[in-house]
Amino acid sequence: MIEKIHHVGIAVRSLDEALRFYRDVLGLPVHASATVEEQGVKAALLTIGRSEIELLEPLGPETPVGRFLERRGEGLHHLCFQTDDVARELDGLKAKGVELVDEQPRRGLAGLICFLHPRAQRGVLTELAQPVE
Ligand code: ZN
Repeated sequence: MIEKIHHVGIAVRSLDEALRFYRDVLGLPVHASATVEEQGVKAALLTIGRSEIELLEPLGPETPVGRFLERRGEGLHHLCFQTDDVARELDGLKAKGVELVDEQPRRGLAGLICFLHPRAQRGVLTELAQPVE
C-alpha cells in the first residue's frame, strides 16, 4: 500500500551549498547522509514534518543525476512514495504493465527502494521506498 510522500528529491550542483539553505536557513535537520556509489550521488535526507527532502549531488557528469543537471539544471528530480512492502508494490505494478527502472528492490538512503520510469508517471521520475529500521 502506498502510504504517503516519503520524500522529494532535488538535484543540486553542490550538496554543501544546498545545505546552507535547507539546513542552515530553513533549519531542517539532516537525519542521514551518504555517498551512494552505485547511484553516483552524494545525498542527504532532511526531515520536514512527517516527510523528507533528499538533496542529490552527482559524483560526476556521466551519472544519472549529472546528466539530469546538464539537461535541466538544478531542481525537482523525483518524488518518492512510501510503501510498507516495496517488493509487493513492484510486483503489482509489473503485473499492470508499468514501465520500471528497477526490476528488483535495492538498498538506498531511504531504505529498500526502486524507481519507476518517468514515462509511467507523466514525466515525473518516481521512487518507492520501504523504510528500514
Ligand atoms: Zn529519493
